[in-house]
Parts: sequence; C-alpha cells; structure tokens
Amino acid sequence: MKIGIICAMQEEIELLSQDIQTENSLTIAGRTFLEGRLYGKPVVLVRSRIGKVAAASTATTLIDRFHPDCIIFCGTAGGIGKGLHTGDIVVADRLIQHDVDTGTGNGFKIPQLNMDYFPTDPALSERLISAVKQYIQNGFTHDIPAQYLEEFGISAPKAVVGTIASGDQFICSKEKNQWLAEQIENLQCVEMEGAAVSQVCYEFGVPHAVIRVISDGADDASSVNFDSFIEHAACHFTRGGIKAFLESEQ
Ligand code: SAH
Repeated sequence: MKIGIICAMQEEIELLSQDIQTENSLTIAGRTFLEGRLYGKPVVLVRSRIGKVAAASTATTLIDRFHPDCIIFCGTAGGIGKGLHTGDIVVADRLIQHDVDTGTGNGFKIPQLNMDYFPTDPALSERLISAVKQYIQNGFTHDIPAQYLEEFGISAPKAVVGTIASGDQFICSKEKNQWLAEQIENLQCVEMEGAAVSQVCYEFGVPHAVIRVISDGADDASSVNFDSFIEHAACHFTRGGIKAFLESEQ
C-alpha cells in the first residue's frame, strides 16, 4: 500500500521530510515529490504550497505520476467548532469548498459535478483518528517544549471528526467565522486546501483523508497565533500523527 502525503507549508512538512528515506526525488511543476519509506512504509511525500489551485494541481500530479493507493492531506486550520482549542485535531468526514458560488442559489455546490461536499474514506479516516489519539495520549508532551505548550494553552488536546471547509481565504474575522458556522452544518474548522484535494481524489476515485491541527481561532487574533504555532508545534502534531498511523499499518 503506497500512501501519498501532502502538506501545504514547509513548516508542516519539515520533520516528515527529515525522516523519510528517499529512494527517488522528482520535481514536477515546482513541486518536489519524495518517494521512499517513512517509518518503514512506502510513501510519496510532497509540499503543495498554499491554496486550492496549488493543492489540486499537486494532488493531480501525485495521482497521475505516482499512483498512490490513498492520499492523506495534513496541516493546520482555524477552529470553528464549539469547544475547539489550539492543538486540538480535526479529521474530516467530509469537505466543502466554502468560496464556491455560481450565483444560482445552490450554496456551495460544485458546478457540473453536482456535489455539495466530498466525503473522505471512512476506514482511512478512522485509522487516522485512532493514530492521532494515540499520539495525543503518549507523544506530544515529549516533542513540544513546555514553554510552547504553555504559550499556546495546550494541555489535553482532543481529536474530533467533522466537516472541514476550504477556500482561498485566511479566515481571521468573527463575522466570517460566524457566517460559515451558520451556513455549514457540523463545521469544525477552515483551511485552504483540503476540499480541493478531495475533489481531485473524488474524480480519480482515490481514497483520501484530511487531518488538521487547530492553529488559531479563525478570528481577530488569528494571524498573531498562527506564525508562532506553525513554527513550534504544528510540525510535531503532523509528524506524530502520521508516524503513529504508518506504524499501525499492516
Ligand atoms: N501567513 C502565511 C499564510 C498562511 S495561509 C504566509 O504568508 O505564508 C494559512 C495556511 O494554514 C493554509 O495552508 C491553510 O490551509 C491553513 N490555515 C490555518 N488557519 C487558517 C485560517 N484561519 N483560515 C484559513 N486557512 C488556515
């Protein structure tokens, strides 16, 4: 089973790219695809860069050239769901493109595909959430220095399953946050790539999952929290979750 792993930002992918034993490295359209073994399992690891177009084109190349059996997208997100804090984890059961509006009153429906949302693969997502729970129980306090856990107010992170919405906007206002929460049932967090990868995977018929660690509250304080969190904590949650997942794979 070959697993495609995509992150948007260098900070998010940094530790995974240090750990991979690369057998083949190929740069296509500015993306470097590292094919090799990660914690003993065959993977292709790539940084997509930020946004829906970057993520969709990366997923397309990954599928077309490397033929992964499934794809996992990992990264950070702004928390919307009630009770979510920085350091909590969301695994998507479905993804919505919140910036789609064809002017026909059809909400976020993807034109000419007739999809309101894209479901993730239930079995893959379930294995991912178990792995992340394991990391939350055993790993993160060893990896993230205490001063940063204190700075971000992280003590007992939780992992939840729910809706993730993606759009080409960094959400950092209470008004937009509330509007999205009203429009989208069970919305847990917002980011800028997941649903684009979902659409590509849906159209190619490749099982996929999306996992996000909450970096900010998608509100007025967002940009301040974000830079520090991504540098000192996001990479550990990404590596910890993926490592636990790959080590649990048969
Ligand atoms: N300041 C950064 C841009 C970060 S964009 C720069 O200039 O490079 C935010 C990235 O983190 C995206 O990849 C997105 O998927 C995720 N993200 C985290 N919090 C988010 C939020 N509140 N709204 C939208 N995307 C968010």
